[in-house]
Amino acid sequence: MTAKVQDTNQVAWEQLKEALRNRLNAAAYATWVSQMVCLKDEDQQLRVGLPDTFSLDWVSNHYKHVLDEELAKFAPDTELTLHLTQSDPDAQPAPKPAKAPKKRVKTPSPATVSTAGPIVAQNHPPKPQRQKAAPIAVEVPEQLPVHQQYTFDGFVTGPSNQIACAAALAVSENPGMVYNPLFVFGPVGLGKTHLIQAIGNTIRKANPDARIRYQTTEQFVNDVVQGIRFERMDQLRATYRQCDVLLIDDIQFIAGKEACQAEFFHTFNALYEARKQVVVTSDKLPHEIKDLEDRVKSRFQWGLIVDLQPPELETRIAILNKKAEQDNIELSNEVAMFIAQSVRSNVRELEGYLIRVSAYASLTNQPVSLELAKSVLKDVMPGTSTLTCDGIVKAVAKHFDIKVADLKGSKRARAIAIPRQISMYLCRTHTQASYPEIGKALGGKDHTTALNAFNRITERLKSENDLRKHVDDLESLLLS
Ligand code: ADP
Ligand code: MG
Repeated sequence: MTAKVQDTNQVAWEQLKEALRNRLNAAAYATWVSQMVCLKDEDQQLRVGLPDTFSLDWVSNHYKHVLDEELAKFAPDTELTLHLTQSDPDAQPAPKPAKAPKKRVKTPSPATVSTAGPIVAQNHPPKPQRQKAAPIAVEVPEQLPVHQQYTFDGFVTGPSNQIACAAALAVSENPGMVYNPLFVFGPVGLGKTHLIQAIGNTIRKANPDARIRYQTTEQFVNDVVQGIRFERMDQLRATYRQCDVLLIDDIQFIAGKEACQAEFFHTFNALYEARKQVVVTSDKLPHEIKDLEDRVKSRFQWGLIVDLQPPELETRIAILNKKAEQDNIELSNEVAMFIAQSVRSNVRELEGYLIRVSAYASLTNQPVSLELAKSVLKDVMPGTSTLTCDGIVKAVAKHFDIKVADLKGSKRARAIAIPRQISMYLCRTHTQASYPEIGKALGGKDHTTALNAFNRITERLKSENDLRKHVDDLESLLLS
C-alpha cells in the first residue's frame, strides 16, 4: 500500500462525506457518518471503519446503499468500492465525539437523533460528547410516531376527563412549573396517549426549541437494555437528562424491571431538580403497579395524579361527532346515539365502530343510516344480536314495576307512557326491529308512534338526567 493510495482514498472519503452531508438528514449524519473513519487501505477499496458492531450493523443495514450510490456518483469512472468494517474489532473503540456538521446543516441535540417518534426539537447544537460510544437515541424504534393530531382541541371533555385534561393543559402551558410530575392514569382506550402527546405537541408549538422527548415505556426499557449491553449508559443518561420535557407513556410496564426503575428514578430526580417537566401515564395507580420500588412510587406522589374515567353518554356522542367531523363522515344523531350507547368504556372501540360503519357505507355507496350501522355492527357489538322486543318490554315493565299489559295497552298516564316510549326507544336501539315491528310488539301501535317515541326519547336524553339514569340502568341490565 502506498501513501498515494491512502491519500486518494482519504480524499474520496472526504468527498463522500460531503455528499452524504447533503443527502442525509442532519440527525443521521451526526449520528453515523461523523463517527466513521477512513482506514488505511489498498487500491480500489475504500475501507471505512465504524467504532463498534452495533454501529456497523446499523449502517450496513440502513445506509450502505446510500453510501454506494453517492460513491458511484462522484467516482463513476473508478473501480473504487466501499467496504464497511469495524475500526478495531478487538475493542469497543473510543470513537471521536460526534462532531457537529458544518454550519449550514442544522445539528440535532442527541435527543433529536431519532427519526422516529419522539417529539424532538430540531435546532439545538449538540453538547460536547465525551462518552465512549455512538449515540444511542437512534435505537428508538421507528414505528412509534407521535401523532400531530393529538391536540387539546381534538380532545372532547366531560365530567369523566375534565380534571385530567385541565391538568395536562396547565402543564403544557407552564412546563416544569405547576404539576411535576403529572401522573395520568386510567383504563385502556380512554385518552392517556392522546393527552400526553397533546402536551408534547402544545409545548412544541409554543416553543419549537424545547427538547421534548416522548417515549413509550417499552422504548425506555429497550434503551436501558441496549445501554447496558453496549456500555452506553453515560450516553443514554445524557440523552434523557438533557430533555426539557420527558413524556413516558404506559409506565406500568416498568414493573419488575429493576435496572430500568433505578434509571428512571435517577433521571426523574435530575430533571426534577432542573425544573424540567415529567409526565407519565399508566393504567394503574402507582401503588397498584406490581413490583414498583417504593422510591419510584413516592416520586410519583410528589406531583399530581389525575384519572380518566369512561366518558358519559353525552361525551361519547360528542367524541363521535368530533371524529366524524375530522374524517368528513356524515353522522346522524340516531346513529351517533346508537354507537354511543353500545360502547361505554373504551373510546378506541367507539372510534373503531364509527370507522367500520362509515367504511362499509362508503364501500357499498350507501348513507350512514341506523339500519346500516345495526347490520354492520351486529356481530361485533355485544348484546345487539340476542335482544328481542319482547325481552326489552318485559325488562322495562319490571324496572318500572308496571304490568307488561299496561305497556302494551293504551293508557296515557305519564307513569306508563314514558316507560312505553323507553321500550320503543330501546327496541330501536338494541334490536334489528323496524318501526312497524316495534309498534306491533307494543300492542299493535302505529309505526309513527314508535318513530315519535324514539325521537322524543333521543332528544330528552340529551338533557334529562333522571331519564338517562333509567335508560342507562336498563341498558346495563339488558347488555350484561
Ligand atoms: P389510552 O392511551 O388511554 O389507551 P388513547 O389515548 O390511545 O388511549 O385513546 C384511544 C383513542 O381514543 C385515540 O384515538 C384518542 O384520540 C381517542 N380519544 C380518547 N379519549 C378522547 C377524547 N376525550 N376526545 C377525543 N378523542 C379521544
Ligand atoms: Mg396509550
